[in-house]
Order: sequence, then C-alpha cells, then structure tokens
Amino acid sequence: MISPHPFLANPAKQMLIGGEWVDALSGATFETLNPATGAVLATLPAGGADDVDLAVADARRAFEGPWRKFLPADRQRVLLKLAELVEQHWEDIALLDTLDMGAPIRHTRGPRDLLVGLLRYYAAQALSLDGRTIQTSIPDTFACTIKEPVGVVGAIIPWNGPLWACVWKVGPALAAGCTMVLKPAEEASLTPLLFADLVLQAGAPPGVLNVVTGSGAAAGQALAAHMGVDKVSFTGSHLTGRKIVQASAGNLKRLTLELGGKSPNIIFADADLSVAGPTAARAVFANAGQICSAGTRVLVQRPVYDAVLEAMTEVAGSIRIGDGLNPATEMGPVVSANQLQRISGYLDLGRSEGARLVCGGARLTEGVLAQGYFVAPTVFADVDNTSQLAREEIFGPVASVIPFDTEEEAVRLANDSEFGLGAGVWTRDVGRAHRMARGLVSGSVWVNCYNALDPAAPFGGRKMSGYGHEGGAEQLDDYLAVKALYVNMG
Ligand code: NAD
Repeated sequence: MISPHPFLANPAKQMLIGGEWVDALSGATFETLNPATGAVLATLPAGGADDVDLAVADARRAFEGPWRKFLPADRQRVLLKLAELVEQHWEDIALLDTLDMGAPIRHTRGPRDLLVGLLRYYAAQALSLDGRTIQTSIPDTFACTIKEPVGVVGAIIPWNGPLWACVWKVGPALAAGCTMVLKPAEEASLTPLLFADLVLQAGAPPGVLNVVTGSGAAAGQALAAHMGVDKVSFTGSHLTGRKIVQASAGNLKRLTLELGGKSPNIIFADADLSVAGPTAARAVFANAGQICSAGTRVLVQRPVYDAVLEAMTEVAGSIRIGDGLNPATEMGPVVSANQLQRISGYLDLGRSEGARLVCGGARLTEGVLAQGYFVAPTVFADVDNTSQLAREEIFGPVASVIPFDTEEEAVRLANDSEFGLGAGVWTRDVGRAHRMARGLVSGSVWVNCYNALDPAAPFGGRKMSGYGHEGGAEQLDDYLAVKALYVNMG
C-alpha cells in the first residue's frame, strides 16, 4: 500500500483566486471523502456567487493586463513548464486522484505520457494561431481573418477524471490566450487545486487560472450565468448540461458541452473474439464504469453471442476489486454513496425490466469492502434496446448485452439512442468497418479497438452527448473568436 499524499498533511484546503489561496467569503466549508473507506480526506471552501464574482474579476484583470502581454512563445513556455511539472509530480497527482475518487492507482498512474503529451501538444498550438487572407471582390482592398482569445472562460468539470479535465480545459485556454475560472466537482477537487498551484509555478500570472471549489448549485450555477464570462466549457451529465445552456442565455455566452453517453460496442461474428470479448468487458468495467465513453451497450451478432458473454463473464470474475491504493487493485469503488444508490437502483431495474443477469448485480460487502462503495462487475444479457437499462447512462460497472443479426440492424440499434459519444466496431471486413464508421452517429468510432485517444485527434459528442471538442486542432478554435479585417489600400 502507498502512504497518503503530503498535500493532505494540512487537510484544510483553500481555493485560488487572483493568485491568493483563500477561504470562501462566507467561511462555509464542505468535506471530501475517500470512497474506498468513507474517511474524510480534506475540508474545502464552499464557494458561492460572491467568490465567483471575485474570481471572474481577477480573470478579467489578468486577461486585459499581464496575460495579454504574453506572446505566443511566452505562453508556449508556460505550457511546456507545466508539462514538466505535471510529469515531475505525476506520482502525487495519481495518488490524490485515487484517494479522492477511488480509481485504482494503476489506472490513475497509467495516462502520464498521454496527459503530459497533451500539454505539450497545446504548447505547440500556442504558436499556431493563424487566420487566412481572403481575395474579396472589393477593389483595392486587403482582407484577412484574425483569431483572438474569446476572453474569460468558465470551466466546470466532473469527478471521474479530475486531471484529465484540468488538462483538457486549461491547456487550450492558455494556448489561445484566455483566462479561466475553474469549478471542480465537489467529490474530487484536490487534484484541480494541486494542478492550479503547478500552473502558478509554471509562470502564469495571478488570475490566469482561478479555482472556486463548491457545489454545482451555488458556485457552478453562478459561473455558468455570470455576465462577465465569455465562454463556458462544461463536462458532466446531460441533465446539468441543460441547466448550463439555460444559465448561459443571459449574455449568450459560447459553450462547449462534453456530456454523457450510452456508447455501443458492436461485435460482428467475423471479429477476433480473443481480443473483442475481453476488451468489451474492460470497456465497461474500467474506472468502475465511470467513463463517459464506456462501451456500455454491447451489441453482439448472434453466432458469437454466447462466446462473447462467456468472455465478458470471465473477465468480470477475474477483476481484482479493492482499495485503489493497493497496486494490485484493478477496480475500485464508485465515487460516492449517492452514486452507489443510483447504480443499485439500475441493478433492480434491469431485473424488473426482464434482462437476464449473467454475473454481478449487487453491492460488494465482504470484509473491508463493506466500508466503501463497491459494486460487482455486472453483465445483463438479452437486454431490450428500448428499456431504461439500455437507454440511460448508469455510470457504474454495468454492461447491457444486446443480440443482433444484420449490419443494418446493428447500425439501427446503435443509433437508436439519445447519446452519440463513442462507438466500437469489431470486424475483419474492411468494407464493413468503413460502412459502419460512416453510418454511426457518434463523436468517435473505434474499429478493432476501444477508447483510443491521441492529443492530435478531437474527442467530442453528437446528439445529447454535447458539442465542441477536447483535443485536436478543433478544440483550439473553440477558445478563439474570428475577426474579419478589411483594409482599403486605395
Ligand atoms: P454532473 O453533471 O453532476 O456535475 C458536473 C459538474 O457540474 C460538477 O462540477 C458539478 O458541481 C457541476 N454542476 C452541477 N449542477 C450544476 C449547475 N446547476 N450549474 C452549474 N454547474 C453544476 O456530472 P458528474 O456526476 O460530476 O460527472 C459524471 C458525468 O460527466 C457523466 O454523465 C459523464 O458521462 C460525464 N462526463 C463526460 C465526459 C465527456 O468528455 N463527454 C467526460 C467525463 C464525464
């Protein structure tokens, strides 16, 4: 087992506004718990609308003052230094994420190269802000576009990947020249606070990144509605996404919405089952099912239906479950008592809707597991695609397996969902792979793999999975405004 992080030596945390570590103006606080043990990890300021006001004012001052003077190469230097600091502190960050949201340490340690690489990618993007020259039909006139930072960005993030969310929001904002007020999730605010300290250490002036901790209803809502915020980049559930859209209406601020999913993972009979079956299981059970693009609807062609179920059940039975601090642990608890209750409701619902429970289906309470919020990896077979089990995001380790016969039926079932975040296709037929990729209404399609991610490729959703992107050239444009310039040369 690994010992707790030094950042927790003083468990009374403060938030970062204008480069100062401060309490909430009201003095109110809330606790964050370790979901593996239920123990209190730290106490955090419960920021409210007045704290958000201060943070937005500081972000505006930084945007119009010192940060504006940072040339692209200066912003690149900050991002490169930040990448170096994140790499240096990687073990600390992984440990904090494990303590705060329960993911196994092997899971939180895993994406170091990808996330550090993402920061380096954004550093390169800081030098890539270009417009285009336009040949107009107006005589003696030069015309071009200029791209400018949109201004003060409000970032509101979930708990299921705190460092991911910080990198995905802060990286492009800094590359574009924006400033930011970040509102972490109540359940996992520790890594965002540590990350903000690293941003300061990397040389960003005070006010460029501010972090206001607190509830969604108070701090989050105030940030989304704030007339001084030019854009909100939100990652979370589609239900909160709707509230963000409504709150943003006052000043018609720009939005990026990265929302939930019910992603289909489609296995054809000609697939390499030795890879497809186990991967289908891991695509649901990784991070205890708390990944937005988890492949929770497993569509399987009938000739290989039983074989895939068997492979998934075998993986489910072999996963080592426990406290994420144990390096051998492969699946930790779900994040909170609330989430445990929600998932338990879906386990009951699946049974009552007539799905066949193949394995799991209950909370785990043996020995020390009783102290935390552990759920058995669960596979439901013969799930009806119109049932709630198949339509709603559970955000827990619950797979819904659905049989199909033809390619057309697979596309129809896959697209018959309110969401459109990710989709997997397993086949050895290249033509079918391309046909499926074009037919699926989804932000990402993975052929003979699942959840592949690269800094240079955009990640985003369709339908109720949201709009806008994380990563790729597309994301930077979300943080830039385009200005048309005409110069009369006559
Ligand atoms: P959530 O929507 O409950 O909360 C997300 C954030 O919004 C939190 O910081 C919360 O405090 C804040 N919030 C809540 N109510 C608010 C309000 N009225 N106004 C403003 N902010 C408010 O989501 P969650 O439970 O933290 O995270 C899980 C969800 O996030 C899942 O649906 C998952 O699919 C989604 N997610 C999506 C992606 C993606 O990239 N598409 C990535 C990770 C998670």
